[in-house]
This record gives sequence, structure tokens and C-alpha cells, in this order.
Amino acid sequence: MERLRSQGLHPFPQQASIYMPPSGGCIRCGTCDGYPCQIDAKADAEMSTLRPALAMGHVVLRKSTLVRRLLLNPDGKSIAGVEVEQDGRTEVLTAKTYVLSASAINSAAILLHSATDAMPNGLANSSDQVGRNYMTHNNSAMMAVGARKNATVFQKTVTINDYYFGDDEFRWPMGCLMSLGKLRAGVMTAANPLVPQFVNELLAQRSFDWWIMSEDLPSPENRITVSGGTIKMDVRRNNLRAHQELTKRASRAMKRAGLPLILTKLMPVATTSHQCGTARFGTDPQTSVLDPFCRSWDHHNLFVIDASFFPSSAAVNPALTIAAQALRAASHIAGEDFGISSPH
Ligand code: SF4
Repeated sequence: MERLRSQGLHPFPQQASIYMPPSGGCIRCGTCDGYPCQIDAKADAEMSTLRPALAMGHVVLRKSTLVRRLLLNPDGKSIAGVEVEQDGRTEVLTAKTYVLSASAINSAAILLHSATDAMPNGLANSSDQVGRNYMTHNNSAMMAVGARKNATVFQKTVTINDYYFGDDEFRWPMGCLMSLGKLRAGVMTAANPLVPQFVNELLAQRSFDWWIMSEDLPSPENRITVSGGTIKMDVRRNNLRAHQELTKRASRAMKRAGLPLILTKLMPVATTSHQCGTARFGTDPQTSVLDPFCRSWDHHNLFVIDASFFPSSAAVNPALTIAAQALRAASHIAGEDFGISSPH
């Protein structure tokens, strides 16, 4: 960080969703990035929401249950039930209010798969925007390799946002640079089987590893469709120039910091970890799927609350934005649909 600061950059500590109570918690192991935590110290969806919800006693978790489709009441204006399949049995669950939160690809797929003769384009889709505007960020992994060994175990600690809104040479937003969990030879060999293991070991022992993340833009042609029960993803990258400019600056900064060998890999579109945008919210029912509280414009008792509502992807991880909007929508539902005043 000192070497980056000496170049005029402003690296700052990365927010990490981990529990560190005085009595224990996170032990800063080497498998945080992309793995479940074996000692329940990661503030992931299970720890932060699912387990507390189950502990309240009002929530039933149905495991190994597949949501097939949503069913409509005869007037088409509200949801009548959810058709689910468990152990080969199909049943219909009913409620007053339905919240779909299957993440951007699967939420869109469920809405599309729920098409009827009266609504052949799927549910919540009078705007024809369901499944469209899929985004997932332009992402690259970068290894900056020097002569000295990097003995770190927990590396995901630094973020650089100096290029987020552009700079003098490139005026447009470029995105965010953040350190990755330490890359290990095994992961690299799995990703590049043609590179011998010992070469990957030499590189991984001497590298600092970074994630370069730039905004991709909503395009109606980048979309999720369902055909014969199969989900299809049709995506063409856009806004790559900004990502290339950020990659160039990241590589320059690492070389100046004394790490001369730079290896970068642009993640393929099959990397769906930051998926968002397939049921965008807005103020106009003609051009959006959801209202500003994630309620379907078409079906009053249906909400879609996950990354589907994003009208743009920004260049930061989507999880906290999803959580913030979920709290906001939950307060709205409690008040509007159930007459419960909420502290939020
Ligand atoms: S670093 Fe991550 S996986 Fe390891 S103990 Fe901490 S929270 Fe768990």
C-alpha cells in the first residue's frame, strides 16, 4: 500500500463481511474467497439472514424443492400460487404476498417459464423487459509477480478506487481494483490445465493477486430466455474499452510498485457471480418490470427482490446493494401489504 501511495494512489482497507468478535471468529485462513467458511465466521447469506430468520420460528425452509412456475389468478392481475416439485411430487403453495429471490438469471427464468396462453411472454412482462439487460461486470484477474515470495494468507484487504470516475487521460468511469484472495497453484492449474503445476507454483508463491472490475452496460439484447425448459443466456460484452484502460493502469501501478511480470485474464461471460439486471425497476411501467419497491407493475402481490432490479451494474460487488434494497422493500411490504409499521 505504501508503494501505491507513493505513486499518488489512495488504497484503502477493503470491507470484508466476516465476524471478528473478541471471543474468536475469523481466523483469516487461505480459503475465504469463493469457499464457504468452515467455522461460520463469514457473514454470508446463510449466517446473516437465513439462520436468524429460521431462529425466529416463523420461517419454514423447504430443501431440495424446485420452483417450477408461478400461477396466476383468472384476472391475471395477481399471483395465485407457486407450483413446486419435491421428491417427484408436485404441489402448489399459496400466500397473500409472493417474493421471488432466485437471483437474476433464475428469477427471470421462473417468470418466463410461468408463461400462459393469456400471457405468452411470461409473467410480469408487459414491458417485454424480463430477462433483458443482463449484466455481470467486465472482470479480469491479474497476477503481479515479483522476485520475492509473498507469504500472505489472507490477502483480500485492499481496494483502489482512484480510477472509478475516470482520469485526465480517459474521462469515463473505469471501475474498481481490489485485491483477490490469494491465488494458489491448484486453482490456477484447474483454470489452465496446459500450464505445468510447478510453473503455477512458482508464480503463485511470488504474486500479488488483483480483481479488476468495470461496469458493463444494460443492453436489451443481452438476455436470458427459456426454451423447452432450458435456460439460455445470450450475452455480448460491451464497454470493454473502459475495462482495458483500467487494466492498463492497474498493470502500470503494479510495475511501478516493483512487480514487473503482469498476467491478466479476462473472465468469460460464463462467470455469472455478479449477475444482475434482468427485471429492472423504474418509474415507468412501459420500460421497467418493477416499481421502485420491487413490486411487479403487472401483479400487485408479486415482488422480485434480488439483483434482478438493478437498472445498471456500477462497478462494485452487488451484494450490499441487494441487501439495502431488500430492507427498503421489506419495510414497504410490511407497511403497505400487512399494515405493520416498520422501524426502517
Ligand atoms: S478467512 Fe473467511 S473462510 Fe477463513 S475463517 Fe475467516 S471468514 Fe472463515
